[in-house]
Amino acid sequence: MTSHQRLANSVAIITGSSSGIGKAIAIEMAREGASVVINFHKTSEGADDALAQIQAFGGKGITVKADVSKEEDVKNLFARTIEAFGRLDILVNNTGRQMDAPFLEMTLEQWDGVISTNLTSQFLCSKEAAHQFVKQAKENPKDEDLSIGKIICMSSVHDMIPWAGHVNYAASKGGVLMFMKSIAQELAPLKIRVNAISPGAIKTPINKEVWGDPEKLPGLLDLIPYKRIGKPEDVAKATIWLASDESDYVTGETLYIDGGMMLYPEFADNG
Ligand code: NAD
Repeated sequence: MTSHQRLANSVAIITGSSSGIGKAIAIEMAREGASVVINFHKTSEGADDALAQIQAFGGKGITVKADVSKEEDVKNLFARTIEAFGRLDILVNNTGRQMDAPFLEMTLEQWDGVISTNLTSQFLCSKEAAHQFVKQAKENPKDEDLSIGKIICMSSVHDMIPWAGHVNYAASKGGVLMFMKSIAQELAPLKIRVNAISPGAIKTPINKEVWGDPEKLPGLLDLIPYKRIGKPEDVAKATIWLASDESDYVTGETLYIDGGMMLYPEFADNG
């Protein structure tokens, strides 16, 4: 491995990293020298595949099963990380799901399912990570004037753009925005940096029914000024920067990675 790897000697947990964006982040972080904890929820195939890809280029990682909306599973995820690698430097709160329904028909189960997976998981994991960062810094103070730990919260353009038929999802991501900013404010004096990434339309299993349907695809591209769907790697590359010391003075920020979806494209020729 080369000396200019931006995450050399770091340990990173990426939740929900057996597919899509999380998997790409785990692979990219390992390529940049981090030891990665690949978290899967139900079946291990995707996580095993990510680990095999990482080991093929000489990277390091482990896979851990955890439902990150459950406190006991989260505690076990962090314990396994420390057992394997002895420390933690980066948490990526990536896990997310959609359970869509018109508002008038949305059940409490659909509401709770999305809020617990997308928002409560970020509370549980960030709290564990912050405790670990503080403990490490006390035991082993860093020489340099740099962050003692980084938290990256996966949000969505729907932390700003309302989304009919997906009220639980939009509310969870709006919640992530204020969760991220509030803990960024509270943890900055401890030198813990907290930021968010808000993707637009990225080609992953979560939205396959849109990009995989030739009838729905043109409507989606109308919303993207850059005229292509994003790739998981587009998000992963930005995550590396936020997790590295290159962004050491950045905290409480959201980076929109959306091909311009936030630019009100419908106004381009219709204002
Ligand atoms: P994905 O379905 O491929 O990934 C979601 C991952 O979360 C899966 O690996 C799944 O197993 C995991 N997961 C679900 N519930 C879990 C739980 N309780 N515990 C642990 N893991 C669990 O979809 P993706 O597009 O890669 O989504 C990743 C993140 O990006 C999500 O937070 C999603 O909301 C966000 N996002 C995606 C897009 C997009 O266009 N794909 C856009 C905006 C935001």
